[in-house]
Amino acid sequence: MALYDQTKSYALFEEAKKYVPNGIYGARTPNFLTFGSHPAFIARGEGCRIWDVDGNEYIDYMCSFGTNLLGLKHPKIDAAARAQMDKADCFTLPSDLWVPLAKKMTSTIKGGDWCVFAKNGSDVTSYTLAVARAFTGKWEVILAKGSYHGAHPWCQPHGAGVPDEWKSHIHYIEYNDPEGLKKIVDANRGKVAAIILTPHQHDSMRDQELPTKEFVDTVNGLAKSEGFLVIIDDIRCGFRLKLSGSADHYGYNADLQCFGKAMANGYPIAIAMGRDELKQAAGSVFFSGTHFFSGSPFAAAIATIDEIKASGAIEKIHKLGTMLMKGLSEAGAAEGVGVTLSGPPAMPYMNFADDPLFEKNRYFCGEAARRGIFLHPHHNWFVCAAMEEADIKKTLNVASECFKLTAKKF
Ligand code: PMP
Repeated sequence: MALYDQTKSYALFEEAKKYVPNGIYGARTPNFLTFGSHPAFIARGEGCRIWDVDGNEYIDYMCSFGTNLLGLKHPKIDAAARAQMDKADCFTLPSDLWVPLAKKMTSTIKGGDWCVFAKNGSDVTSYTLAVARAFTGKWEVILAKGSYHGAHPWCQPHGAGVPDEWKSHIHYIEYNDPEGLKKIVDANRGKVAAIILTPHQHDSMRDQELPTKEFVDTVNGLAKSEGFLVIIDDIRCGFRLKLSGSADHYGYNADLQCFGKAMANGYPIAIAMGRDELKQAAGSVFFSGTHFFSGSPFAAAIATIDEIKASGAIEKIHKLGTMLMKGLSEAGAAEGVGVTLSGPPAMPYMNFADDPLFEKNRYFCGEAARRGIFLHPHHNWFVCAAMEEADIKKTLNVASECFKLTAKKF
């Protein structure tokens, strides 16, 4: 099999560095992937496939970091967005899709009695903290060490340019550690506004962990007895596990919930939702953004939710993801390479045994990329409903070859 040539991607990356600090920032830089083997820039996409600037085709298991649930260039979603764009997109006031989307979301998400709209996950996770603090009159917030809730100062993982004080009301627990949670609550008795959690633990660079019943019960129980709120950050899992929300899927009594990424199949919109009792406090928090009000993502979100329901997308990605996880475990074992597949099949993560620096993982994913399969070496992947069994089979064939190479190299 001829390996991909990515000359244009890397030339463009060098050029980007002249104009943009680090060329590309955040998780999209090739430095965070397998440098030299993953492409740096994408020219186009369709369904579950992307084509880089050199013209190479990939089956994309990052699904635009989770926004692509139904397929890129989805005819129904794009038609809905285009129909709004034909009437113009960003107005002085909200479009007439404001109420229809609010109705659609509140009738879809369990425990979501009202909603506010924004652009990014970070916008709404930060907003829900403010709502919890406004409602309870308390400042302290608990979160799980290593969980990603966005790029804002209180939650971003890197410290440059962020004074320590901006994280001073944040307390860290280990995910799935009820005793640790009890200790933090005890130490801050009467001062805790909220706990914010991802539905399950899906931090990068580690196996995913589903929440234990004991942990969920402890979170729900302590929130009730101590009077703090439960915020579920469903930005990454939302619309992939259960249509009514991942809090419902795992049994969290969420007071506030955050959605983004897949909810409009890639059109930029995020949403915070909450229980009725919190509506007044929510209304007292200042919240705004110039582009929060543009209409086409609203149209795309309504169409996306309808299409997830009509097409059975959630069941389909579960089935395909199960096939992928099983196939990869078997293929790794057949080549004598130990791998662990973790997390829900809709968004699996693969780790190599004895690979603390991710060298095997980076090598494996780099070789897969050079053969047309886009996998990430230390972030969970995503499965989308535009994939078919033939795509999974192709992926497993390439994976077998790459496991063989990995076994030889390490
Ligand atoms: N929360 C979670 C769980 C996320 O995965 C992300 C994005 N990766 C965010 C919040 C932040 O979302 P955004 O990048 O849209 O600001």
